Amino acid sequence: MSDGFATRAIHAGQEADPATGSVIVPIHATSTYAQDGVGGQRAGFEYSRTGNPTRSALEECLASLEGARFGRAFGSGMAATDAVLRASLRPGDHMVIPDDAYGGTFRLVDKVFTEWGVDHTPAQLSDVDSVRAALRPNTKLIWVETPTNPLLNIADIAALAQLAGESGARLVVDNTFASPYLQQPMELGANAVVHSTTKYLGGHSDVVGGAVVTSDEELAGQIAFLQNSAGAVPGPFDAWLTLRGAKTLAVRMDRHSSNAERIVAALEGHPKVSRVFYPGLPAHPRHEVAAKQMSRFGGMVSFTHADGEQAALEVCARTRLFTLAESLGGVESLIEHPGQMTHASTAGSMLQVPADLVRLSVGIEEPGDLVDDLLDALG
Ligand SMILES: *Cc1c(COP(=O)(O)O)cnc(C)c1O
Repeated sequence: MSDGFATRAIHAGQEADPATGSVIVPIHATSTYAQDGVGGQRAGFEYSRTGNPTRSALEECLASLEGARFGRAFGSGMAATDAVLRASLRPGDHMVIPDDAYGGTFRLVDKVFTEWGVDHTPAQLSDVDSVRAALRPNTKLIWVETPTNPLLNIADIAALAQLAGESGARLVVDNTFASPYLQQPMELGANAVVHSTTKYLGGHSDVVGGAVVTSDEELAGQIAFLQNSAGAVPGPFDAWLTLRGAKTLAVRMDRHSSNAERIVAALEGHPKVSRVFYPGLPAHPRHEVAAKQMSRFGGMVSFTHADGEQAALEVCARTRLFTLAESLGGVESLIEHPGQMTHASTAGSMLQVPADLVRLSVGIEEPGDLVDDLLDALG
């Protein structure tokens, strides 16, 4: 039993409903479950914070897609991140975080976990030596994002997993940007993978959610305990939307990647574009690592405008198909100015992004239309 990825996306955890034959997993909109006598649960469900069949189907599917044994779904990517941090860290512990981590992750670590006595050191994850130098005897967690947001830096997951193993720390990969279709961190040695399913897994910008997957039974038990104890669970409709989105992940990611390649080709050498950030470019400083651990390079592209910040802002205001909005990973193309939007809070810190930077989440529309739209906006 080792069906391919696209097959598992459609079938893992999603057998036809035994009671009705419903081919699609139903939205089990119920808070509680009838029992056949005290303690006589019919299918292992007693209360929907603890477990819900629609959510279980999603959890099984996500675990399967990441090649993990266990999966747990959460109400957002941040709730999933919070659960892994709490399962991994105690007061007095230390963690290493990317110096260009997702802003919400950095905020949670810096503002919440610091107050609870957990220390952190930002490190440049594309440089294994920089991570090694950040390790301390009490380092319990190395947090990895690759590719990063919005500069598309690449970390070598296998090398970092080896370093974590040697130092007794847990390696957790936020695989939101690549999605399990393009990158399989568990296979590369990660102890757990976190997702904002809001992005590519859901894929349609219509639901917020998160997930943790792992093959470590003890960690899985802790995550399940926290999921039930703190209760940051997705409702059944949200779980269902995410499950529906995940069915088409393989075809979407191929199209996102193809469209991004077309956009990159149009931006490269354009007189108004000073630099293009895309791990698929042979000129990307970590292209070889990206090519080793990713099957393709995804739909996120960033570039700097040759005429500076004002010109970058004007491009964001002028596109017709690329919608000016935060978030990413949906079927529709989005454009944004990280310096004043998603990454405004990094101003003045070492996470600050270039003021002339534009970030694209390339959707799956007709590629020629997207290229035309961008070239028109660049003028
Ligand atoms: C969006 C995002 C998150 C947070 O997820 P939410 O679903 O918004 O809570 C975490 N990591 C990355 C890389 C993201 O893009």
